[in-house]
Amino acid sequence: MTVICWFRRVLRLDDHPALVAAAEGGPVIPLVILDPAEARAHPASAQRQAMALPDLDAALRRQGSRLIVRRGDPDAVLSAMIRDSGARAVHATQGLPFATDDGLAAAVEGAGARLHLHPPADLIPRGSVLTGTGTRFKVFTPFWRALRKGSIADPLPAPRLSLPMSWPASDGLDWPEARAAMNRGWDVVARHVQAGESAAHDRLDAFLDRLDARYGTRRDTPSDSDATSGLSDALAVGEISARRLWHRAMNAQAHGIGGVEDFLRELAWRDFARDLFDATPNMGRTCWKSEWNDFPCSGDGPEAEAWRQGRTGVALVDAGMREMFATGRMHNRVRMIAASYLVKHLMIDWRVGLDWFARCLTDWDAASNAMNWQWVAGCGPDASPYFRVFNPDTQAAKFDGKHRYRDHWLKPGAQGAADFAAAAPRSWVLDHHPAPLIDLDRGRQRALDAYARFRR
Ligand code: FAD
Repeated sequence: MTVICWFRRVLRLDDHPALVAAAEGGPVIPLVILDPAEARAHPASAQRQAMALPDLDAALRRQGSRLIVRRGDPDAVLSAMIRDSGARAVHATQGLPFATDDGLAAAVEGAGARLHLHPPADLIPRGSVLTGTGTRFKVFTPFWRALRKGSIADPLPAPRLSLPMSWPASDGLDWPEARAAMNRGWDVVARHVQAGESAAHDRLDAFLDRLDARYGTRRDTPSDSDATSGLSDALAVGEISARRLWHRAMNAQAHGIGGVEDFLRELAWRDFARDLFDATPNMGRTCWKSEWNDFPCSGDGPEAEAWRQGRTGVALVDAGMREMFATGRMHNRVRMIAASYLVKHLMIDWRVGLDWFARCLTDWDAASNAMNWQWVAGCGPDASPYFRVFNPDTQAAKFDGKHRYRDHWLKPGAQGAADFAAAAPRSWVLDHHPAPLIDLDRGRQRALDAYARFRR
């Protein structure tokens, strides 16, 4: 009996529970669905997924199988595929949050097949690490301690697939809607991406080779691109599993490599975000601490546009915004500073920033993005207090003391500045660094005064 395995943001053969279950069910049709709605909402992430497809197809072809790609709404695509292929079962990974899967089963069953949803190979199944009173954790450190005390399931090896009698037609591997939805030169971004499952494993090998006890401090230096794994995009599109990372890192630790514990802790933030998001699916739209929905702030407008274009006049913020536009990624500390500047110095709604990150990031992840923005804005469950306002200049002096990162993105003639100029619309590229939108001390005081009034 033929079964469909829908590769749903899990673009790999290794440690893929839905694929393992499908392989046990019969000949497998491996399916990827390119949903135009997703391409419009998250074009960089969609393009990033499209870049992973050739490698996935090649890996399947080495087994005599192949990737079937269909464009359209997932419910409609699955119904058509079930009718075309006579498949009796569809195996897929659970959505994030689970609630988004409600309509899917009806569509699949309506077409005459059964839907089997499998947990993603995160570190923990969602909702499985609980407080002593059986509730989900709202604070990271106790969550981390509980997770660390338990055991993380072993990754599953790639299964051997048996082949269907005939292959359904496939669309091409590219995703034109995603490319069209980008307002930037994708070719520039693509140069900064290493796509595919095999490349993700190579990147992990290289990272573990250079990992040492300095990871915890080096990861805060934006110009030190070797300090961290750089695997967030591979995790976001599912080229590698968090469990695989965990076990490889544990193995390195057993061989005396330093820095592993700090790295595992970072990885656990991703699971924490997914757990929170699963329990609070509207976290990307409403403040987790509901009283914060009334906090006075501005919406979109010229200052938000200046922030998006990397011309706030604050060098570290502008460098970060340009990095994201040209590469699809931004250094973690700079993300925190750029986000803080938007919500505190400019007093603009955090959702304006979240939406821009969601459009630009190749490692976009609904849960990590929402949790981190709420952390910065002070309205999340385990958030940085609002009154703690990052000073971007002090942060720059501390973490980019030699100006390497800022020069790379801002100095005329530097490689990053050239990449940004090649990726951005012409009107975004200035021949001078603009004057600050707001004096940093004044902006800070304005935010603190608003906070004091809000608390009264
Ligand atoms: P490493 O240091 O190698 O860490 C390993 C892995 O741990 C990462 O790949 C990532 O999966 C996880 N991780 C590390 N820090 C965090 C964190 N703070 N939150 C969640 N997971 C973490 N990360 C995303 O993957 N997608 C997003 O959409 C996203 N949006 C963000 C928005 C804001 C405002 C901020 C402040 C952070 C955001 N992050 C997001 C988290 C973080 O910036 C990236 O995960 C990190 O830059 C990845 O680099 P790396 O893979 O080299 O990290």
